[in-house]
Amino acid sequence: MKFSKLYAPTAKEAPKDASLASHKFLLRAGYAEQVGSGLYNFLPLGKRVLENIKNIVKEELDEAGAQEISMSFVTSADLWRESGRFDVYGKELLRFKDRKENDFVLSPTNEESVVALVRGKVTSYKQLPLNLYQINTKFRDEARPRFGLLRGREFLMKDGYSFHANAEDLDREFDLMEKTYSKIFTRLGLNFRAVRADSGAIGGSGSKEFMVLANSGEDDIIVCENCDYAANIEAATRAKRTTQAERPEADAAKFLTPNAKTIKDVAEFFRVDEFYCIKAVIKKAIFIDAKGEKSEKIVVFFVRGEDELQEVKAQNACAALELADATEAEIAAAGLVGGFCGPVGLRGVEFYIDKELRGESQMICGANERDYHFVGVSVSSFNAERFKDLTAVKAGDKCPCCGGNLSVSKGIEVGHIFKLGTKYSEPMGATFLDENGKAKPFIMGCYGIGVSRLVAVAVEASHDEKGIIWNETLAPFKFEIIVSNLKDEEGVKFAQGLYEDLRGAGVSVLLDDRNERFGVKMSEFELMGFPYAVIVGKGLAEGTVELVTRDGLAKETVKASEILARLKSL
Ligand code: ATP
Ligand code: MG
Repeated sequence: MKFSKLYAPTAKEAPKDASLASHKFLLRAGYAEQVGSGLYNFLPLGKRVLENIKNIVKEELDEAGAQEISMSFVTSADLWRESGRFDVYGKELLRFKDRKENDFVLSPTNEESVVALVRGKVTSYKQLPLNLYQINTKFRDEARPRFGLLRGREFLMKDGYSFHANAEDLDREFDLMEKTYSKIFTRLGLNFRAVRADSGAIGGSGSKEFMVLANSGEDDIIVCENCDYAANIEAATRAKRTTQAERPEADAAKFLTPNAKTIKDVAEFFRVDEFYCIKAVIKKAIFIDAKGEKSEKIVVFFVRGEDELQEVKAQNACAALELADATEAEIAAAGLVGGFCGPVGLRGVEFYIDKELRGESQMICGANERDYHFVGVSVSSFNAERFKDLTAVKAGDKCPCCGGNLSVSKGIEVGHIFKLGTKYSEPMGATFLDENGKAKPFIMGCYGIGVSRLVAVAVEASHDEKGIIWNETLAPFKFEIIVSNLKDEEGVKFAQGLYEDLRGAGVSVLLDDRNERFGVKMSEFELMGFPYAVIVGKGLAEGTVELVTRDGLAKETVKASEILARLKSL
């Protein structure tokens, strides 16, 4: 490709709202342009990177036996009603009517579509397993589209769905997809971890997220410093916490504790470690029933004084759609005494206790009466269903697998694999006949990759203050040839010859044939981030050219007669 023909409008200034390197550089270097909130056009350079990613994804999935399809982006709302998701899915789902007043949605994900695609056509266990995927547009009306391609409203996702006759076969495919994803992200040159995850709104049992480690990530992940254990903060567990602090000794009693409302106050009042105090976190839980009716109620979560409530765990514990902070008035209306709430004798309100507190003795908790706490409390007389995993794992906690130290890292989610089970096949009546001729719902898995997000993730992972640093796999062009002075006829001729030779060898190369200042050409090379540039300048008279490596910007003088062989060897 000749630069004079390339459509790559560059800009000196980054958009005002761009805080991340990927957002700034991809827009400034003319890879993509924003056309609305969370909406982007891909320009030729960006499209080339996207295609490089898509090809790798496709090659590895095809190799693993999955088959590519393409499903309609617009989906009938009737399908979403069959699965029960039409009313439950939040405002991210864009719903609209066509001219005949029929409801439709723009697909944010395609479980319903793919179930309808096989329903009534895959009818026997002999046709299973089946894994179908697409690389297609998605729309999610995100509350906060930001960070450029990292969180758009319209974006490109690879979404795959598998169908199985039994759970063991799903487990096998899930493992195969985990391996396949690892191959894909390794080939893309990314530093990633497969982490255990919460299954979220899509539902199902097993779930793993693929996280690229990056300081700009929005997700907190817990990583063991000693073994492979890695988990999303929402799913992370830890070895039960212990303490060296002395356990208080007191007979069960009620104590006047004037104004001791916080855990700190209580611990100081009794001169005990916060480990021995029980903290109440009062939330307003919002529920939605099968008819789409919303309801809300106050739910109390008890955790150890030194711990924090993990909201997603808490939400799962009470099966709420979401949790919100409860106001003082709502707390009082529920019959609770803010600052003095405890599990002992608590009635008329739903509550849960962190599982690590089960069986604890000599604890201190609120007495559900203003200015009073109980001491010498045993956490033993509660029903087993009250105990749930509620706490947020923090840095310094111990690994549940090996006891090693856990630390917190930031990550960007680039892929997610789930075991769905029969969550969609059952309500949608998608069944097959098993070996005994009995109708059974398909056991399903689903597997996503954020294809357009990956373009930005790669830039987050590899850039400097001047611009992008592509690896060879992702780069839109591997080489750029720059003639420092277009009036230099010999130089132009040499560059043109090198360009033809490289093209003949099937190498992707960009020839900067524009009548621009050398400084402009170099700074655009640095901004756009191609792996290597060959500079044809004054040295040619002595038979040399310069080879610049974008990563580190090291310069090397190479004999003009040897440059072609040198580039081919790179
Ligand atoms: P996130 O937690 O980042 O919002 P998600 O868990 O909602 O993502 P999934 O439903 O698991 O996303 O979708 C599969 C993949 O699609 C994600 O792993 C992510 O890489 C990508 N993705 C999700 N939302 C967006 C978005 N708004 N813009 C770009 N890519 C996205
Ligand atoms: Mg996800």
